[in-house]
Amino acid sequence: MTGRDTDELTVLDPATEEVVATVPAATGEDVDAAVARAVRAQRTWAALAPADRARLLRRFADTVDAHREELARLEVREAGHTLGNAHWEAGNARDVLLYAAGGAERLLGRQIPVPGGWNVTFQEPFGVVGVIAPWNFPMPIAAWGSFPALAAGNAVVLKPAEATPLTALRLAELALEAGLPEHVLQVLPGHGRTAGRALVDHPDVAKIVFTGSTGTGREVMERCARLVKPVTLELGGKSPNIVFADADLTAALDPFSFLDNAGQDCCARTRILVQETVLDQARELLADALAAVVVGDPADDKTQMGPLISRRQLDRVRSYVPDDAPALRGSAPDGPGFWFPPTVLTAERNDSPAAREEIFGPVAVLLPFTDEQDAIRLADDTPYGLSGSVWTRDVGRALRVAQAVRAGNLSVNSHSSVRYWTPFGGFKQSGLGRELGPDALTAFTETKNVFISTEGPAL
Ligand code: NAD
Repeated sequence: MTGRDTDELTVLDPATEEVVATVPAATGEDVDAAVARAVRAQRTWAALAPADRARLLRRFADTVDAHREELARLEVREAGHTLGNAHWEAGNARDVLLYAAGGAERLLGRQIPVPGGWNVTFQEPFGVVGVIAPWNFPMPIAAWGSFPALAAGNAVVLKPAEATPLTALRLAELALEAGLPEHVLQVLPGHGRTAGRALVDHPDVAKIVFTGSTGTGREVMERCARLVKPVTLELGGKSPNIVFADADLTAALDPFSFLDNAGQDCCARTRILVQETVLDQARELLADALAAVVVGDPADDKTQMGPLISRRQLDRVRSYVPDDAPALRGSAPDGPGFWFPPTVLTAERNDSPAAREEIFGPVAVLLPFTDEQDAIRLADDTPYGLSGSVWTRDVGRALRVAQAVRAGNLSVNSHSSVRYWTPFGGFKQSGLGRELGPDALTAFTETKNVFISTEGPAL
């Protein structure tokens, strides 16, 4: 991107293109000041007994819960998410807080007997953690990066995406309302190449959690390397949905495997791999299912799919789907708003751009395979490795395929990928490190090993 960053971020309702809010964009100096405040706040925060941190985080969770409807409505407005999804997202933020609070109380070191004494290990917080979030799931991703970090005793400076700063700002207000100390959780809306880079490059930011595209993640990792700064990367995906002929085809070909959040979902199963003997049946099922998808006003309870986030994203998605491309298509409203119909491209090869690149819209490709080995080969023929599904009634085959496919989150006879109490993250160019699950807090600590001599001179 060229040109100067704007001083303000304009938040648009993607369903109507109306301006929802304008928010000042943080400068490099704003980042410096926020990090300085965070450094001071973190000392007091880390000095609290873990049970006291946990108590405050539980109170924060209660406050989020009390504002669930408000947060969900805000997510609908700024991100165009359906109301049902937005409710899940606010609930997920609350659940991640509660789980992280419990983790604070269980973050233990070890005692290891060694000749002449003991080694004692401590899980120490990094200090200040920088969290950089994308626009596609503003609340959950802010929560996954920030809340376990807080529970482990870090302070957090969170930079939400340009298009979606509002729920993150509200979460920071709710944290204060719940009694978290000032500056322990700061939210700085801003541009990636200004505020984002300043956070990544800041010497007092001891760890970065980045969620976003693989291209930006690569840059973030390079910049972190200069300071030998640890980084967790949650990046893009191009996940396979592997459907064997013996599967429950209706369940396996549920179009919400790739249409959830209008396809702006890193785990979307956008490569539908179908055993060739049932390919015709799969086409028919998909055609009917796409035609039935209700696309429209995300605030309406009956809506199943909302708009894309921006005109830019709409243009990007369109560029992969020429009007004359062989495809199964649903319908979508005309503008205003950034609408694209549910689409399955039917004449692609696995090496075509639509099958290889992350489109990040309601578009999947349909590809046939012959047998188990061919399915695994196709599934793995991608630079990504975030998630995927295997559909078959043969338990042995389900396990063989799930173990063989190089991806971080596989589901058997299901399309779901995320549970806050289990680990989440990608193989290959889908990322580095894991969030959520039992090790979520440990990822925000460094292990210190102290030797205590039992044979030293008596004092
Ligand atoms: P993006 O990479 O454009 O931006 C992500 C964030 O990085 C934004 O906050 C942006 O301002 C910031 N940023 C941009 N340039 C930067 C820079 N040079 N230095 C520091 N920060 C910078 O991604 P996006 O378009 O907002 O989000 C969509 C992408 O996120 C998709 O690729 C999707 O797959 C991925 N994603 C991954 C996961 C996961 O858990 N693996 C989850 C959600 C989204």
